[in-house]
This record gives sequence, C-alpha cells and structure tokens, in this order.
Amino acid sequence: MTIEQFNFKGKKAFVRVDFNVPLNENFEITDDTRIRAALPTLKKILADGGRLIIASHLGRPKKNPDPKYSMKHIVDHVSELLGVKVAFAEDCQKAQDQVAALKDGDALLLENLRFYAEEEGKPRGLAEDATEEETKAAKKAVKESQKAFTKVLADYADCYVNDAFGTAHRAHASTALIADYFDKDHKMFGYLMEKEVKAVNKVMNDIHRPFVAIMGGSKVSTKIDIIENLLGKVDTLILGGGMTYTFMKAQGGTVGNSICELDKLDLALDVMKQAKDKGVKLVLASDSKVADAFSNDANTQIVSSMAIPDGWEGLDIGPESMKRFADAIKGAKTILWNGPTGVFEMDNFALGSKAVAEAIAEATKNGAFSLIGGGDSVACVNKFGLADQVSYVSTGGGALLEAIEGKVLPGIAAIEK
Ligand code: AMP
Repeated sequence: MTIEQFNFKGKKAFVRVDFNVPLNENFEITDDTRIRAALPTLKKILADGGRLIIASHLGRPKKNPDPKYSMKHIVDHVSELLGVKVAFAEDCQKAQDQVAALKDGDALLLENLRFYAEEEGKPRGLAEDATEEETKAAKKAVKESQKAFTKVLADYADCYVNDAFGTAHRAHASTALIADYFDKDHKMFGYLMEKEVKAVNKVMNDIHRPFVAIMGGSKVSTKIDIIENLLGKVDTLILGGGMTYTFMKAQGGTVGNSICELDKLDLALDVMKQAKDKGVKLVLASDSKVADAFSNDANTQIVSSMAIPDGWEGLDIGPESMKRFADAIKGAKTILWNGPTGVFEMDNFALGSKAVAEAIAEATKNGAFSLIGGGDSVACVNKFGLADQVSYVSTGGGALLEAIEGKVLPGIAAIEK
C-alpha cells in the first residue's frame, strides 16, 4: 500500500514522524527541518479528511514525564506549519478520549513516546551494581510491558504510517512493532520514508554504472562495515578524511600528528587487498594539506600523504587529490557520499570537501544519481550551498549508515513484511 493510493477519509491514522528537533534553552525550535520534512504526509492525510494522530520522540528522556523533552514545546509550531490547530495529548498512553473526539481533518499530537521505557524496550532505573540476573529480569519485564504499550498505540488507529526514516534502524514500539497490528493494506510508508527507501535502493540494488562512493570522516573503525559492504558494489571507492593516515601508515608512510588508528593498520591493508581482489579502483588522498596545529589559523603546507613531517597533521586533502577525486566523480552514473574529506568545519580545511561537493553537483547535472547522507556530509553540502544540486540528501544519519552497511532496517521491514 502506498500513501498516494490510500484514501484517509474518516480514517484515524497513526503517523510516526521524526520530530526530534533541536531546542534552545528557552525551548524554542532552532531548526525545524525534520518537521517540515514530514509535512507532505501529514497534509495529504488531512486533505483527504483523515484524523491525524501524530507520534514522535524528542531527545533522550529517562523518565515520565520529563518537562525538558515535552512535545508541548513544539505543538504550536506544528499547528502553524499544518494550518490547523493541533490538539495535544499529555500522556501518550491515555489519549483514548481525545482520539475519539477527533473529527475528519483534525490532528492530535501525542506526548513524547520515550517518556515510556516501553517505546525503546530498554529497562530504566537499574542499579549500577545490578546482578546479571536482575538485569535479565528487568529486560524481560520491559519487553513484556512493551507489548501492552504497543497495543494501546495501535488501538488508537485504523491505519499506520511510518514517515520517520531517522529512527528506521530502531526496532521500537512505534517504529516497528506496531506495524504487526495492521494488515498490509493498512500500513504504509509516508512520502519522506518512500523517498529515502527509493534513494537507498538506487545505490544498493538498482545501480547504474560506474558507481563511485566517497567515504570520509575521521576514523576507519566507524566506517569499516560500510566500506566492506561497498567494496562488493562500487566500481570506484574514494577514501578521504582522517582515515587516510591509517592507510598511509599501514603502507610504511609517516603521518606526523595526523589522526591514525594504529590498531587498524591490518584492517587498512585488508581493505586494499579486498579492493584489488574485487576489481574495485581504490583512490586514496595522495597529497594532504597539513597544519602545525589543529586550528584554522595554523601554518599550512601541501605534502605527500606518505611523508608528513613531525609536528604536522593532515587536515584536508591536497590539490592533486582534489583533482583525482573530482575526475573519478565526474565520470560516475551513481554516487554515494558519506563523510567530509577534511576538517570542513574550519574554512582553511574545507576546500577538499568543497571540491568533492562540486564534482558531485556537476556529475548530477550530467545525469548521475547522487545520494548524500550521514550527518556531516549533509552539513557540508549545505555549507557550500549545493544541496539542491544533488539528487537526494538523506535526512537519516544512523539509519542511512546502517542501510548502506547492508543491514535490514526494522522500520522498513515491518512495513514490507
Ligand atoms: P565522521 O563522524 O566519522 O563522519 O567524521 C566527521 C568528522 O571528521 C568531521 O567533524 C571532520 O572534521 C572530521 N575529519 C575529517 N577529516 C579529518 C582529518 N584529516 N583529521 C581529523 N578530523 C577529520
């Protein structure tokens, strides 16, 4: 079932969104991108004459209630964006009367689902010195009560819509378990989730070649699962950022003060071997912009990434690498980018990431499909004003990373099964 096909007229729709927005000390929203991302879905349901039950988490509350993380801080803004007065249910478990009072075209926002431990299904308040047995019993108890919690939520509605890609990698009550209470004609992705799933599919399954992936960021260790999965799919793998120096050191280079994971040298050599065995072209940063301090104002020079002098650290790729990266990207038909190729937060070390972003924009103009995702690379394309020149910028950090690691996301599987 797709949201486009479904007529919500008179139907109570439980819509799981990701309204986990940042708030300042006055509890004002500082960035409402996530709310706006779900608007097409919410507006379609209201326009059909559906009855909206909107549910989300906000932050990481550890108790119920936790006023700091209350959804009441955002309800007025949601009303404003939706153009209808959204009612607020102070207890997401006791909203039966408010749900019953909904008329066609009405909307209700539930309080933070994570006020209840059952949403995540993880025990709370366990003593630090709890025995293994006590921990086991607490886990069992919360899993048991999670079923009842999930049923309460499911009983509110006639249909279930998941538009929360940001939490699709979590098997929580409202993101996955609840789907079991609806038959296949009454559960569906929202528009945002549909777009995300399609974008991931284009780089994981429906690949137009050549497929070039660019991985950056600080460490190999946090990206290794993705790198290994991508080695089975891409034609060219470009590696930049801090992980460069683990590869250089592994090949006998000197890396000065650059970030380097000494316990991952064998892993780096193994990645190089796997690339060779699989016929994947591996492109590493051959030159680096090095600095004599971790500061935007540090002295800099361009050196070979294999020969970084003592007291200097590689904070960006050099001009030769920029050209090699850009040349590889420009010939691509499918592109995936995760992680900046330098410390882009400092302008003097953002040039490499900028060159990558520009090459991706150019390839996209020439017909490539480009997916950018996972936290910092999104900030990068935004910083360079290129977000609207790539095919898709994912809203899901962790969820996107798990998807490109090749994992099945519970939130997606729950709808598709
Ligand atoms: P990640 O969360 O692993 O994707 O890493 C993103 C972070 O990596 C950003 O904050 C960058 O500043 C940082 N980064 C990128 N290149 C380097 C580098 N050469 N040295 C240190 N940090 C880097």
